[in-house]
Amino acid sequence: MAGLNMHKAPAIVVLGPGSLATAQRIQQCYPQASIHGLHGRVAGADQLYSQFGEHLRGLYQQATPIIALCAAGIVIRSLACVLGEKGDEPPVLAVAEDGSAVVPLLGGLSGVNVMARELGAALDVAAAITTSGELRFGTCLLNPPQGYALADLEQGKRFVSDLLAGAAVRIEGDAPWLQQAQLPASQAAQRTIHVGPRARPAHRDELLIHPRSVVVGTAGGDLASIRQALQQAGIAEAALACVLADEQAMADSVLHEAAQALAVPLRFAAKPTDVADMLATALPTAQLIEQTGVAIAVAAQPVQVHSIGQRRGRLAVVGLGPGAAELMVPAVKAELARADDVLGYETYVRMAGPFRDDQVLHCTDNREEMQRARHAFELAAQGRRVVVVSSGDPGVFAMAAAVLEALDASSDPAWHRVDLEMLPGVSASLATAAQAGAPLGHDFCVMSLSDNLKPWSIIEKRLALAAQADLVLAFYNPISRSRPHQLGVALDVVRQYREGSTPVVLGRDIGRPGQTLKVVSLAQLRPDMVDMRTMVLIGSSTTRTIERVDGSQWVYTPRWYPEPR
Ligand code: SAH
Repeated sequence: MAGLNMHKAPAIVVLGPGSLATAQRIQQCYPQASIHGLHGRVAGADQLYSQFGEHLRGLYQQATPIIALCAAGIVIRSLACVLGEKGDEPPVLAVAEDGSAVVPLLGGLSGVNVMARELGAALDVAAAITTSGELRFGTCLLNPPQGYALADLEQGKRFVSDLLAGAAVRIEGDAPWLQQAQLPASQAAQRTIHVGPRARPAHRDELLIHPRSVVVGTAGGDLASIRQALQQAGIAEAALACVLADEQAMADSVLHEAAQALAVPLRFAAKPTDVADMLATALPTAQLIEQTGVAIAVAAQPVQVHSIGQRRGRLAVVGLGPGAAELMVPAVKAELARADDVLGYETYVRMAGPFRDDQVLHCTDNREEMQRARHAFELAAQGRRVVVVSSGDPGVFAMAAAVLEALDASSDPAWHRVDLEMLPGVSASLATAAQAGAPLGHDFCVMSLSDNLKPWSIIEKRLALAAQADLVLAFYNPISRSRPHQLGVALDVVRQYREGSTPVVLGRDIGRPGQTLKVVSLAQLRPDMVDMRTMVLIGSSTTRTIERVDGSQWVYTPRWYPEPR
């Protein structure tokens, strides 16, 4: 609940170009936030939407913090019909489009007032805080800071209204964040704020807060055994900061499911002799409770999860698409936003940005693929979140295969335990085809004409067979300065099987500034029309063209095929 929402990057929603400048100032305050603009009205947004109300409701339902640059009334009316739904309510704020007012609307328990103050400071205006408890005590008692969790919200609400009605309060345990709060404190007070890890029902007159000061150590335990261990030790589940497991169990799905159900991070360490040892090494000053198969460490303070063992490293090999931000899939954007390290050819790394100062960029030459793949595993094996970028799709003449080749050649268990995932992108042949119409509407063949990694004789053989089979041909790496004559040879092969009138699509820098799209016939096609940044699509016997109203041409290959004679 509390604090969790803050981990999700906020959406800054704008309706028109007039609020873009304010949106960008807000983005400086929350660098991970993305600007959502109305389609057709806002250029320069990170994401586009077509219907404001629907978009806002979607964000709300996904618990994404919302900063809407428009009238508070529009936001209220848009969200009204979903407000009754129980669940994780994100912070929702309305900000005046010129940045002159910040109004927290919803999400009092997920830190909306904290955000309102941060935004107020960034925009140099006072936030319109209206929450009584917040105004009176200078803090939201029901939203303790990171490292602490409220035991019972409903009981807590009653407690806060008692304080607002004039009751005094006494603090039991260690609650450093309340030191600056203006609480009606008195040693003789009947009402207490109790801070401790023990599981017990809150008394009628107390606000029970659990410090996240407990770590469960396990070799690879399931949810039931962890819950049972906590129960036996009399410790509240909400006091759990993380689960520390044997690094051998890093890829164990049962363990991951348990941590997810407990809503705590999983950390890993080497297990010297048993889990108690492992836990004692990680938390030398904590009190240790040993049970069979599981051990529990109870620290005096909330545990700094980052200092306990390491997390499971992640390596994502992502496709950026041809270049334009709209053609990058959302999963890739999200992966880039949480990356610690980004590796790739410098041009593509730059295309994947902008990045935050804390993200480490490792730009390398285009040819050093295997070295880059190994470096990515070394970083991920240390628990870092690593992204390797390719243009287009990572599985098409790009890094995904190189990464798997590196893994295949490695016997390091730490590399094999890395959370490895490939995230697809729009490949150049598909992006080019879409702009031309549907040249790949029937069977087609994708080839790289580069003989860096395969003999030219194989290329010629495949070209002949694919041309003979009447497949549409998509050429990647069609030509380069080091092999200027090969495309001519390739075209000679194709021309043996295909008419001179066959349509050919040449897409250059598709999805990038200065993109060009040309349609020529196979007879007209000359190698000097093509360079390394060009995608070549050669039609089959059925590929045809249609005149467009602007004078250019649609190219398509029908889905059907004539009956063989
Ligand atoms: N993984 C990439 C392909 C890498 S091979 C993908 O899936 O798109 C590099 C070749 O792809 C280039 O030589 C060129 O033929 C083609 N290419 C890549 N990006 C392109 C673009 N934006 N426009 C046209 N062709 C492109």
